[in-house]
Amino acid sequence: MSNQKTLNHDEVGTKFYRDVLSFFDFASQFTKHPQGLLEQIKVPNSTYEMRFPIRTDDGNYQVIQAWRVQHSQHKLPVKGGIRFAESVSADEVKALATLMTFKCALVNVPFGGAKGGVKINPKNHSERQLEAITRRYTTELVKKDFIGPSIDVPAPDYGTGAREMSWIVDTYSLLRPGINALGCVTGKPLSQHGIRGRTEATGRGVFFAVREAVNIPEDMKKLGLTAGMKDKKVIVQGFGNVGYHAALYCQEAGAIIVGIGECEGSLYDENGLDVAEVLKHRRETGSILNFKNAKNVSPANSILEYECDILIPAALENQITIENAPRIKAKIIGEGANGPVTSGAEQILLEGGKLILPDFYANAGGVTVSYLEWLKNLSRVSFGKIQRRYTENENLLMIQAIENATGVRVGEDLRQMLSKGPDERDLVNSALEEVMIKGYQDIRETYMQTPKTGSLRTAAFVSAIDKIAIAYLDAGIFP
Ligand code: GLU
Repeated sequence: MSNQKTLNHDEVGTKFYRDVLSFFDFASQFTKHPQGLLEQIKVPNSTYEMRFPIRTDDGNYQVIQAWRVQHSQHKLPVKGGIRFAESVSADEVKALATLMTFKCALVNVPFGGAKGGVKINPKNHSERQLEAITRRYTTELVKKDFIGPSIDVPAPDYGTGAREMSWIVDTYSLLRPGINALGCVTGKPLSQHGIRGRTEATGRGVFFAVREAVNIPEDMKKLGLTAGMKDKKVIVQGFGNVGYHAALYCQEAGAIIVGIGECEGSLYDENGLDVAEVLKHRRETGSILNFKNAKNVSPANSILEYECDILIPAALENQITIENAPRIKAKIIGEGANGPVTSGAEQILLEGGKLILPDFYANAGGVTVSYLEWLKNLSRVSFGKIQRRYTENENLLMIQAIENATGVRVGEDLRQMLSKGPDERDLVNSALEEVMIKGYQDIRETYMQTPKTGSLRTAAFVSAIDKIAIAYLDAGIFP
């Protein structure tokens, strides 16, 4: 952690952005695209940096600094979350917007990449102030045409959630009313035309990514592990929306959650922590610490170095650096956060034979389900609404035909299971699963074809760069 301590927020953001660019540059040598096209794919297209004042509760004024970066408009709208954190900087937002472009391309979500950031600590502001800040930020975006269902569609990120998205859609609809206004932002509450399954989507996607990797016996053999999630020891750093759900689904699949990391400190219990119980404990006491038989771990980040098979950093960037990388014991690192492993640290981990599931693949579940929410808003119909009952009736007829032919009656529970037509949540979850499975196959195939890439991250960049290059070339932008 010494590396992290010596850098201020701006320096961390700059290092993060430099790392993303260097990952890109390294990967581009495995593609055959002209230099000018690669340069266009690499650079952020537009950046809007803004300052606006808010009135503090003691009657003073505070100037808020905020950004929206649109990295690539090769597909429209551009898409990416809005982060509320004290650590936000111009370069951090650029790095995150860049990753969004490659994330969407990799998993075939037809958006360009973008990201927003507001430099505040939400804990230092009342709800009234947060609403004022969010509405003002949205107004600034509207004024400059940096938001809209066919232009740029924000979503939640670190420090924001459904509540903020609700303020955004309301502000946007007031300023730009129209039939598609609801599609100006995703991650909205259900009452505001959100979609079932969006809240848990990123964490669920991280779980699918890890499960895919772990299910390949020959890859696991190389790591000295058996295939399958059962009894795998998992540590999750970050117990927010992403970390909590990733841990929950890993636990449901039979893994043992031995460690959970948070700002206030971390927990370790080799016998396993019950994820839902830890959340309950945190809600009751305000901290994850002092949970049942678990050991409190301090400093919080040292949890990354504890014994486990799978480590899921799901908090912020720059967590595994050259300083702590040599001490990481996990064999698989599933990047729930964006940029948790620095480029120097990645070298050390790869030399140690670790398998790293790169951020812009592993956490692509959020934007995947955002895409479905946006489609739902534009089409004005929820998934499953039209065909659910029809499918159910058809299934019942089929069951009846089988019963008539065999003379055997199906039990009531099985009849219900077999006949059920898919509802919105079923369809969202199955689409998410399909995208994550297909994404892993794509990256692994690219890696097998180009082993010199040396990592799944580089292979993923190669695959995404190729897709974006084709989009540019087919559009005739580079005739
Ligand atoms: N903030 C999330 C991410 O980093 C979600 C973006 C979205 O849904 O647009 O992928």
